[in-house]
Amino acid sequence: MMMANGVDAPASNSSPSKTFHDVLIVGGGAAGTTVASLLKRRQPGLDIAVIEPSKDHWYQPAWTLVGAGAFDVEKTRRPTQSFIPRGVKWIQRRAIGFAPTENRVDLDDGSSVSYGSLVVALGIQLDWHKIEGLEATLGKNGVSSNYRADTAPYTWKCIREFQGGRALFTQPAMPIKCAGAPQKILYMAADRFKTRGLNADMSFFTPGAAIFGVPFYAKALDKVVASYGITPKFGHNLVAVDGLRRRATFDVTIDGKTTREDSGFDFLHVVPPQSAPEVLKGSPLADAAGWVSVDKQTLRHTQFSNVFGLGDCTNTPNSKTAAAVRAQAPVVAANLLSAREGSELQARYDGYASCPLTTSVGRIMLAEFAYDGVVTPSFPIDPRVPRRAYWWLKKSYLPSLYWQMLKGSLGPDWHAARTFPEAVPAIHP
Ligand SMILES: Cc1cc2nc3c(=O)[nH]c(=O)nc-3n(C[C@H](O)[C@H](O)[C@H](O)COP(=O)(O)OP(=O)(O)OC[C@H]3O[C@@H](n4cnc5c(N)ncnc54)[C@H](O)[C@@H]3O)c2cc1C
Repeated sequence: MMMANGVDAPASNSSPSKTFHDVLIVGGGAAGTTVASLLKRRQPGLDIAVIEPSKDHWYQPAWTLVGAGAFDVEKTRRPTQSFIPRGVKWIQRRAIGFAPTENRVDLDDGSSVSYGSLVVALGIQLDWHKIEGLEATLGKNGVSSNYRADTAPYTWKCIREFQGGRALFTQPAMPIKCAGAPQKILYMAADRFKTRGLNADMSFFTPGAAIFGVPFYAKALDKVVASYGITPKFGHNLVAVDGLRRRATFDVTIDGKTTREDSGFDFLHVVPPQSAPEVLKGSPLADAAGWVSVDKQTLRHTQFSNVFGLGDCTNTPNSKTAAAVRAQAPVVAANLLSAREGSELQARYDGYASCPLTTSVGRIMLAEFAYDGVVTPSFPIDPRVPRRAYWWLKKSYLPSLYWQMLKGSLGPDWHAARTFPEAVPAIHP
C-alpha cells in the first residue's frame, strides 16, 4: 500500500535480528543509501545497518519532467533492495524515536537498535494536510502536484488537456526540497501553452518576496517570467482549495498585514508546505524547528559527537537537493570514519546545491551555488543563460549519475566559485 508521501508500508516483518551495529543509518533515500555505499567501499568490514521502510526508491528530480510529459514516471522507480550494498543489513522498518544518550533508535514494531555511530537521513515531510481541502481534490478537478509520483502524470494530463483559461502555480514557505521545482513546471507549462497558441492567464504565487533565493539567478528568472507574460504574486500563501468549485484561497501578507484573496482556476499546480519529519520534531537530535542540528561544514551533530546528519532533514542553510546530497555524502563518510578513529574531522561541506531550472521544454538554466549565495557553476560559462545542453544533462545524464551515486560512484565534481558580469545576459528561455 502506498502512503501519501510515496512511501510503502513495510511489506514483511524484517525486525533486526541483531540489536547493535557499528554504524546505523536512519533513512535509505538518496542520502542514507549513498553514505552506506561510500562507507562500505572505504571500510568493507564495517558493520552497517540501514533503517528504511520503503521497498521502492524514487528518483524524485525527474518528477518535474514527468509533469511536463518529458519523462516516464516508471523510470523514476527502482527497488530499494538493489541499492543496499552487499554486506549491509536492511531493516525494513520505520524509526519512531531517538535516544542518543543511550545510542538507541526505536522502531515501529516495538524493537530497538543501538549503534556506535548514527547517520540521520530522513528527508523532509510533505504537509499536504496544511492546505484545507487539498487532499480531497489532489489528482482530480484540475488540481495536481509534481511532488508525488502518483500525481505527477496527472500534471501532464492537465497541461495536455488545457484549452486556455487560468493556470495557477503555487510555492509554499521555505524550506522545501528543490526550491526551484515550483517554477520549473510553470515555465514548461507556459512553453507548452505557447506552442499550442493557447490564451493562458498564468500566475505564480509565493509567500516570498523574490522569484528565487539567490539574487544572481533571480534577476535572470525575472526575465523568464516576463517573457511568458506570467504574473508573479509575491506575499501569497495558498491556504485552501475547493476543487469542485475550482477556487483557490490565499493569505496575502503585505507590509505585515494579512488579508484573504480568492481566485478561480482551470488548472492548479500545488507544491505542499514542508517540515521536518515528525519523528525528529521534539527529539533530542532536533533544533527548535525539528531539523537535525548539525555543524554546517562537518555535518556532525552539534551535541552528540557520534551522530551525523545530511540531506533534506538537517538545519544546514543550503538548498535541499540531491545535488547537495552528492556534496555532503563524502563529507559525512570521511568525518564519521575519522570520528570513529578519534582523529580530527577534516572534510568540509561548502553548502553546494544545484537547481536545473527548466525555462522551457528543451532548455535549462543550471543554477549552482553554495552557502551565502556564492555562485559555483561546474562550467566556466555564464550559468544564467538557458542552454539545450543542460536539458540533455537533466534528462539523460543526471538520472544515471544519481543511480550510480547510490552505489558510491560519485562522478565528477567541477563546481567552483566563479565571477560573471553583473548585467543579466540576453535570456531566450
Ligand atoms: C518534484 C521534485 C523535484 C526535485 N528536483 C530536484 C533536482 O532537480 N535536483 C536535485 O538535486 N534535487 C531535486 N529534488 C530534491 C531531491 O529529491 C531531494 O533533495 C533528495 O532526495 C534528498 O535526499 P534525502 O535522502 O535527504 O531524502 P529522500 O531521498 O527523500 O529520502 C528520505 C528517506 O527516509 C525514509 N524515511 C522517512 N521517514 C522514515 C522513518 N521514520 N524511518 C526510517 N526511514 C524513514 C523515506 O522512506 C526515504 O526513503 C527534487 C524533489 C522533488 C520532490
